[in-house]
Parts: sequence; structure tokens; C-alpha cells
Amino acid sequence: MRSPVRHAALLFAATLAASGAAVALVGGAGDPISTGSSPAPNAEREANLATPAPGPLCAQTASPPRHRSEFPGEPSSSAPSAPTQAVPILAYHYVRTDPDPTDVLGQRLSVTPRDFAAQMDLLHRSGAHAVSLADLLAAMRGDVLLPPHPVVLSFDDGHADFLENALPVLQRDHLCATVFAVPDFLGKPSYLTVHQLETLAAAGVRIGAHTMDHLDLNTQPPPVVADQVSRSADVLRALTGQPVRDFAYPYGSFDATAVAAVQAAGFDDAVALAAQLPESWAGRFTLPRVEVIGGESLQAFAADAGIPFPAR
Ligand SMILES: [Zn+2]
Repeated sequence: MRSPVRHAALLFAATLAASGAAVALVGGAGDPISTGSSPAPNAEREANLATPAPGPLCAQTASPPRHRSEFPGEPSSSAPSAPTQAVPILAYHYVRTDPDPTDVLGQRLSVTPRDFAAQMDLLHRSGAHAVSLADLLAAMRGDVLLPPHPVVLSFDDGHADFLENALPVLQRDHLCATVFAVPDFLGKPSYLTVHQLETLAAAGVRIGAHTMDHLDLNTQPPPVVADQVSRSADVLRALTGQPVRDFAYPYGSFDATAVAAVQAAGFDDAVALAAQLPESWAGRFTLPRVEVIGGESLQAFAADAGIPFPAR
């Protein structure tokens, strides 16, 4: 039986805005003070765990991101103090059992619900903490210290199986996740409906953009790229009523035009599909991700997530 206290949301210390000091993000799966049976080691950490279950999966930060005009590209007086981080950003597609064993790509992109639950349980038992891309950027700016074993969970394309097979597990362990949705796919067979997307957003899942209809941006003229990028954010923002800060390049494919379009559209960050760590502040619009491959072993997953195996 999992303690409800274990579901405490990631919170920033209330003093963050006043002090300007870096603080630790605490709470979430495996946090040693969230067992519910032993007292918190100090009042400050206890205060950080004040939000009861279920709460939003991805907590809003107490300190809103500074406007990017404060970071005009190159390091300055307000340049980030921890510009590199080594946080695995995991990329999922389907969480399902692919019914077609001959569908090689589908099998690769499909993590079975059983494997997914085992992976999240391993994160939980390993003391890993799922953080958002906003948290990662905040850490790069030196605004926060990330908790032990931070990992970002992302899900591409807006498949409907996320709602049935992933969300309950994420809520069980209070793991933050980002769904990169494709507005023109919403409501199509096997994809989330608009109502389901609203449900995810209301549950605290971060909704990121993934173009309007999943074009390979490398193959499109600049005006189409700009439209695909900016309109996807506008549509998702209108549907969810929430900011859309994160972008994922379809097929992990990007070039200078695509990166410029993402920046011009006002996103804070963008993710691709390459595995090199660490991430850098300068590279925040081409953040690397690790694909979680269907059928991979739990040991391989642990390596993807940067956690020990077997769990302690
Ligand atoms: Zn995609």
C-alpha cells in the first residue's frame, strides 16, 4: 500500500522568490521522507511536502521563468549558473500491446502496459524523481537544485493509450509527464480526443506541441515550418487553457530554420531524439532524449534512466 504522503507534489520552497537562492525540489516517487511513518528530518523539508495527494502531476513553479529577453543568447550578467545538467529525458510513444507482431516499427514504439508499470515501479524504488522540462531549465538557471536521480518523462504524438495505460501508473507514483500532442490528430482513431486532452491537462500532465500534423520540418519551406510550430502552440493553448512551453520535433528532425521557428513562437525549450548528455542551456532548443524501446529489458531501462539496477 502506497502512502498518500508519497504523492506529495514537487514544490519549491516558499522562500524561493524572496531569497533568490537555489532550493531543492523534493517529494515524488521514492523520496525518503515520504514514507508516511517517520517524521520529516526538519521543518523546512516538511513544509515542502505540504501538498496532499493527488495534486497535479507536474507542480507549477513558485518562481515563474524569467522572460527570455533576459537571456539574449550569449552569457550575460543574468546567464544561468548551472548551464549544463545530465538529466535523462525519456521518450515514449505507445503504451500498449501492439496487436500486430509483424509491425516492426509499431513494436519498437510500443512499450507494453506491464513493462511500463515495471519501469515506473523501478523509478519509484530507486528514489528517482520525475521532473518537468521547466524544472530542468530552472536548474540550469540556478533557480533550483534538482532532487536525486531526476528524469523527464515524455510521450509523443498524443496516443489515447496514454490515458488508459500510463496515466494511472503515473498518478500512483506521482510522476510528472509531458505529452507532446499533434492537434490535427486529436479525435482520430487511437488518438486522444479533445476532451481527453483536457482531462490530462486538468490532471497536471504538461501538454507540449509536436506540430499541427506531424510534418518532418526538415522537408518544409520556412513559412510552413513557422506556421506548423506556432499554430500548434496556439491551438493547444486554446484547448487546454494552459501555457504550452515545450516543443518536440517530429521524428527528432530539426534544422536551423526549425530551431528559429520554435524560438520565435515563444517556446522555452524543444526536444529531439539523440542520446548525448549533458544538456546545455545553449542547447535548450535541441535537448537530447533517450527512446524507450518496446521490449527492452528492465536493466536497459535503468541505464536509459540513469538509475542503479537492481534497485537498492
Ligand atoms: Zn511524433
